Amino acid sequence: METILTIKNLDKVYNKKVHAVKNVSFEIYKGNVYGILGPNGSGKSTTLGIVLNVVNKTSGEYQWFNGNLETHDALKKVGAIIERPNFYPYMTAEENLKLVCKIKSIPLTKVYEKLELVGLLDRKDSKFRTFSLGMKQRLAIASALLNDPEILILDEPTNGLDPQGIRQIRDLIKIIASQGTTILLASHLLDEVEKVCSHVVVLRHGEMLYQGSVDGMLSTEGFFELKSENLNLLKEKLTQHVAVENILQEEDKLVVHLKENLEAKDLNEYLFKNGIILQHLVKRKNSLEEQFLELTKNK
Ligand code: ADP
Ligand code: MG
Repeated sequence: METILTIKNLDKVYNKKVHAVKNVSFEIYKGNVYGILGPNGSGKSTTLGIVLNVVNKTSGEYQWFNGNLETHDALKKVGAIIERPNFYPYMTAEENLKLVCKIKSIPLTKVYEKLELVGLLDRKDSKFRTFSLGMKQRLAIASALLNDPEILILDEPTNGLDPQGIRQIRDLIKIIASQGTTILLASHLLDEVEKVCSHVVVLRHGEMLYQGSVDGMLSTEGFFELKSENLNLLKEKLTQHVAVENILQEEDKLVVHLKENLEAKDLNEYLFKNGIILQHLVKRKNSLEEQFLELTKNK
């Protein structure tokens, strides 16, 4: 696996008092979509700022592309949007992007390719100031992609957008990822990370609580919801099953958490053999939100 970015024991203290990032380490490999997930103030933007060389680290290391390039040259292969998109308001989308191409010595044909990708080709002649926030954000993404970067970095890409705008940006991120561009995004939205990312780094108060695949974070064994006429007998038989961790009664149903995998059909068969006929059987997994709350409960 090709390494794009390695972060080791990164630490940031602002003004000798705000400990914004605490000993954070993780790696980013080519082709994945990474989310840095955490509530406001957890150190997401600071972490992005450090690796983009706009915030000074206090200690620790980071290395782009295995350290084969100086940071300055490495950052030429990184596309990033860490602030509100800013273009010339009275210039058109096309003119704004052409200007970026001239500054960065990129062929002008890229302008049309990227406008098409973000769905703004038919609006190329509209002035930037007439764009909705979602269109401005998509233009910023087009701009960051003009030089075909290895990785695209986005800080809270859907902040302030309406539901349709949010949907467009999320779909766009998935399209860009499917074309092979690695993505690193910071977000405080659990459902955003769950929907868009393959991997997640969870931060809270600057501390890393989890890193790994989103599926991994979701793959606890899950739980069953069960109903039967004789709840006491049901409870008794469940207590005797090796896969059962605990049983909670919620009104007329039992919520059964597992300590090892158990398929619905096997549980159903076990209960039937023990004289229990279920009226209701559903197997569920915790959502990322529930996992996140679990993770941050005692911190
Ligand atoms: P997030 O992006 O997760 O919301 P930030 O990285 O912006 O978090 O902030 C982390 C912590 O660092 C917060 O307590 C914030 O107030 C503080 N912080 C961020 N930028 C500065 C700064 N320039 N000077 C002082 N403190 C800062
Ligand atoms: Mg932030």
